[in-house]
Amino acid sequence: MMTSRNISQSEYAHTGTDASHDACAHHAVKQHTVIIDGAAEQFLRSGAPRNLSVFSASSSGVEAPRQYANTSSSDVVSARQRRYRLRDGERLFTTLSRVRACGKTTIGAAVELRASGDGSRVGFGGLSTCGSVWACPVCAAKISARRRDEVAELVAHAQAEGAEVSMLTLTMRHHRGQNLEDLWDALSYGWSRLTSGRAWQQFEQQAGIIGYIKSTEITYSHVNGWHVHLHVLIVTSRSIYIPIACQRAQGRARQPYPVEYRLPKDIIAERWERALKVKGVEVIPERGGVDWDVAGDAEKLANYVTKFGDKSSASDRISAEMTLGQYKQARKNSSRTLWQVLEDAVETGDMDDIEVWQEYERISRGRRAMTWSRGLREWAGLGVEQTDEEIAEEVAGDRVVALIDADSWRTVVQSHAAELLDLLQQCGDQAAFDWLISRGIPFYRLL
Ligand SMILES: [Zn+2]
Repeated sequence: MMTSRNISQSEYAHTGTDASHDACAHHAVKQHTVIIDGAAEQFLRSGAPRNLSVFSASSSGVEAPRQYANTSSSDVVSARQRRYRLRDGERLFTTLSRVRACGKTTIGAAVELRASGDGSRVGFGGLSTCGSVWACPVCAAKISARRRDEVAELVAHAQAEGAEVSMLTLTMRHHRGQNLEDLWDALSYGWSRLTSGRAWQQFEQQAGIIGYIKSTEITYSHVNGWHVHLHVLIVTSRSIYIPIACQRAQGRARQPYPVEYRLPKDIIAERWERALKVKGVEVIPERGGVDWDVAGDAEKLANYVTKFGDKSSASDRISAEMTLGQYKQARKNSSRTLWQVLEDAVETGDMDDIEVWQEYERISRGRRAMTWSRGLREWAGLGVEQTDEEIAEEVAGDRVVALIDADSWRTVVQSHAAELLDLLQQCGDQAAFDWLISRGIPFYRLL
């Protein structure tokens, strides 16, 4: 049973197509009639907290407040909305059931709309989360943001300690037609070979390596295929540009080899090339497969190992041009991040892109995106590292703004759940209630 009342339309002033900040001032709805419909009654009977006031609205006579409606069709789409839409599009072709369920499947009787005390953080509780840093744009953003904060702390600590922070890039030669699994395995092997054995221990000591964070990056182009490479943030107690004294093992030579002075970078390059050779992979000839330089900019350093958290990442920048069809065609041949491949797959339904994405999902599964060397977190005063899943599961905010039962939740998903979060964050509780009411979505409010 559903009863209805009209919400005065005059209370929603039209504020044009601008971003929703101004719109917040106009959202006030003076009163609601408490309505309980069938689903809500059932929900309440199934053990919902007693001290709830129940809000509902019929669809008749209530139109979406215009300034809110604009947020869905406006050119101004928040990064959150883009990520949610990307995940929604991905559900159609992802091979991962966890990603299909992420942010959609309920795990309790109701979904909680939550906010922190100051309203700066908002989120949903009671939903399944996939925790995939590789394949889920929503979880990856959340995980990367956390990792990024920690890297920033490490960099700050290093700078305070007078240590040097540098960026080492390790690449390998690749061509179209090589499969991702072989390349990735070769890269992983190359790294473990590079960083093991007595020679490496000695090198670490001589180069003053305090520790490192290793992260794997993957790009794809239709011309050159998969490009898998490593970004390693290295903390050293001395400059990486100071040569190191090296002496080749004497072996069968009658006289010991003379001591040579070599740059740390050249030593790494030689070891990297040798390690890859074991797997039949070569380095890129001119560059030697190794770049190693110092960057003073803390932000640049954090972005180096956690790209997704960067607001101006390629992925976000490109999203602004999501409707440019020809542009998409052109970029298909250039090197794209996998988030760009996903965007293109969602946007155009291109089968090549979907296949690329599915291969990537299959091969990335279970691999670590980012690894701290032993002891580095302790050195920087950071606690035990959380897993990707733990970060993804964390629910933002300690305050429950509203409860939405599982049936009604489906309507929220269809109506773009990210919009609701944006409104709550930017305009406060009442704006979120109005959004729900204008869509005829019943919800429960703790009093
Ligand atoms: Zn997810």
